[in-house]
Amino acid sequence: MAVEQINVAGEALVVHRFGIPGARPKVYLQGALHADEVSATMALAQLTDLLQAVDDEITGEIVVVPHCNPLGAKQFILGRHLGRFSLDGRNFNRAFPQVGARVVDRLKQLGPEQQTKGEALRIGAEILGDLTRLGSPVERLQAALVGLAWGSDVILDVHADMEATLHLYTSGKSWPVFQPLAQRLEIPVVILADQSADSPFDEVHSDAWAIINGHLGERPDQPAFRPAACTLELRGLYDVTSEWAASDGRALRDFLVQLGAVTGTRESAADAVPLVTTLDAVEVGRSTMIGVVVHLKPLGANVVAGDRLARLHDPFEPDPTKSWHDVVAGTDGVVFARWHQRMIQAGMAVVKIASPDGVRSDGRARLLD
Ligand SMILES: [Zn+2]
Repeated sequence: MAVEQINVAGEALVVHRFGIPGARPKVYLQGALHADEVSATMALAQLTDLLQAVDDEITGEIVVVPHCNPLGAKQFILGRHLGRFSLDGRNFNRAFPQVGARVVDRLKQLGPEQQTKGEALRIGAEILGDLTRLGSPVERLQAALVGLAWGSDVILDVHADMEATLHLYTSGKSWPVFQPLAQRLEIPVVILADQSADSPFDEVHSDAWAIINGHLGERPDQPAFRPAACTLELRGLYDVTSEWAASDGRALRDFLVQLGAVTGTRESAADAVPLVTTLDAVEVGRSTMIGVVVHLKPLGANVVAGDRLARLHDPFEPDPTKSWHDVVAGTDGVVFARWHQRMIQAGMAVVKIASPDGVRSDGRARLLD
């Protein structure tokens, strides 16, 4: 194993590397892209300890970055940490660089025999390397992170929600790869989407390879490269305990065994079956004014359409008969995420329900991921 400190935009990124460079499968795991979502960091720190103990049993290549956002880690404002957005207003998990078309442009300059998957990997790495020296600090960091994951067979971007049960976002194509992880972690809610937002980290890899594979075509001697990626939400911002870090770390190690990146035995998984739904079927209950939210349903609660999810109190409404408003479920489903602060503003997503029915009352944005 090796631990590297990489300088990105003037900050040090700590990267743990295990196994043999170039070995398959290559698995990349990063945590805390939203810099305050540190249950991810604790789980991945635990995973690095477990992998160090079995270093000679690692047969693939594994790259682990327990905290991948040193820029966001430093953002304390008046004593409060701000981890989701950079100070110039950018969501750290949006607008990652899309390199597929640029790789194809470069491939077209080569002879037919040279246009291979290996050459596409090399060109992509070169383009991403160049991007780490261009643009704003956030753009350089984003290029560096895509570069670290570039060429991985399996990519896990580990986050936390505000208040939440475990849940996982992935594409329909990638879901079979992550199903054993969901089983092992006993994840109650899985949300499938091929295109969810403006180029989040987990989607730019499949986006790039869809374009590159489309150019290279399918050949028997050169199967298409299709990385599997997911966003794993390790509960809520404040769910940081030694016990969860230890059990999550073991579950991630077992997933690496399942993938064939590590030899050895794994703990048996529970029989729990998650609710697998689509992003279209996530209902978002919103606030209607500045005020106070009082949640009425605990995380994990099964609700039916018409159930009251939360009460909103408007302290600036003088008429007491008008100062309370209900947030009501528009669909049946499971409460899997809630806003963590109790002072809220108009339009804020205060409760999320995963519905099995595909009913949606809101836009597509992944507001709490
Ligand atoms: Zn996040």
